[in-house]
Amino acid sequence: MIRVEDLHKHFGGFRAVDGASLEIKTGSITGLIGPNGAGKSTLFNVIAGVLEPTSGRVFMDGADITGLPPHTLFHRGLLRTFQLAHEFASMTVRENLMMVPGNQAGESLLNTWFARGRIRSEERALRARADEVLDFLTIDHLADERAGNLSGGQKKLLELGRTMMVDAKVVFLDEVGAGVNRTLLGTIADAIQRLNRERGYTFCVIEHDMDFIARLCDPVIVMAEGKVLAEGSADQIMQNEAVIEAYLGT
Ligand code: ADP
Ligand code: MG
Repeated sequence: MIRVEDLHKHFGGFRAVDGASLEIKTGSITGLIGPNGAGKSTLFNVIAGVLEPTSGRVFMDGADITGLPPHTLFHRGLLRTFQLAHEFASMTVRENLMMVPGNQAGESLLNTWFARGRIRSEERALRARADEVLDFLTIDHLADERAGNLSGGQKKLLELGRTMMVDAKVVFLDEVGAGVNRTLLGTIADAIQRLNRERGYTFCVIEHDMDFIARLCDPVIVMAEGKVLAEGSADQIMQNEAVIEAYLGT
């Protein structure tokens, strides 16, 4: 689904991503691990159109998507999750989900005048979809809670929920498990697995928790110093000498 070819992202003279090549296969939950500073988040940001690459190419389903802006990629089904923005903290959980799809009829002033009936029915459909998503993620009891009041783990679930408001194809998750308690981490893992199996989402997941990675991801790609160091099953990776050395070296 995604192919990255000899990607570079330099900040001044510093090579954060230094010739990375990798593939994310359709239908996989691919893990991306590596020591702090390996260039994982930078790689995600280049793939998702947040940062321009210094050189190299990114393909999605064979089409060159290098440098396309995030909103264009969003419409193609490529999503990267972000921490919940501050401005959404005072909105309810359901409202946060309802504003994801964008391009709603209500966003145009003319439509506001001429299509009130249509807007209301679209709003009802959005609300129904939001409630389905909350149900799927087992946080339906939080629908009317202000997003700012959620725990760290619940916010991560809401982030995942935002990807379900559109028909995503491939979702990039950057450390969704960080700082989340064991129970919620399990719920997040279940949700990722179900989205993968039942809705055919492809995932690429950056995560430090090796239990989480081993349970969820195949294959696992290891990055170090801006390059891909190894790729394989979680078991293979954990026995790979170069990988062990990269982790011990930091
Ligand atoms: P990871 O996610 O693997 O921990 P990052 O991609 O966040 O690593 O960062 C890789 C390296 O690039 C780090 O050394 C970081 O300090 C550096 N870096 C990241 N973003 C910038 C930036 N905007 N300007 C300068 N250096 C950056
Ligand atoms: Mg990072």
